[in-house]
Amino acid sequence: MKVEIDEKIIMPTKYGRAEVFSFRGIDGEHVIFAFGNWSTLRAPPVRIHSECLTGDVFGSKRCDCGPQLDEAMRRFTQSAGLLIYLRQEGRGIGLLNKLRAYRLQDAGHDTYEANRLLGFDDDQRDFKVAADMLRALGINQVQLLSNNPRKTRGLEDNGVRVRHRLFTQTHACPDNQKYLAAKAELGGHDGLQSNLLNEAKNDTA
Ligand SMILES: [Zn+2]
Repeated sequence: MKVEIDEKIIMPTKYGRAEVFSFRGIDGEHVIFAFGNWSTLRAPPVRIHSECLTGDVFGSKRCDCGPQLDEAMRRFTQSAGLLIYLRQEGRGIGLLNKLRAYRLQDAGHDTYEANRLLGFDDDQRDFKVAADMLRALGINQVQLLSNNPRKTRGLEDNGVRVRHRLFTQTHACPDNQKYLAAKAELGGHDGLQSNLLNEAKNDTA
């Protein structure tokens, strides 16, 4: 089924005015929040954010999702950009399994091992849908705000060219240090400070 815009509405947010797009022809209720004059840009800035109820809504410090979302929305309202919000909680394993994975992490496993122990891949997320949504808006090249090379590949393999990568800040705190280190070491994320990695290693040694 062809991916098309289902609705486009205006939503005032605490960051600024957004255009919100929903889509038909995709699996899942994914949306795009678009800010500023993105439609005049050849390669608008884009952030692909996967839903994290605990981090996005409740401010959990077990991960850095809340601050990442906040950073993207602030940056895009200052200039322009599109936030693709994918409803794939817990790297695609869902909320209940994410909470089970947290319990395994508390028993000493890293975030990827915990997913595998529950019978899932390291990362169940699908980024093709993000490319489909962008193309439905007529966008076939972007600047991608991400430290995650899987997102770049997910777009490029599905017809959206990543002209530049814009690196995100590191949002570290004592509670998410091991999580960030696992992302850098095992998830191939770039731009995370190597001292985080060393500190976490020392911590578990
Ligand atoms: Zn999170």
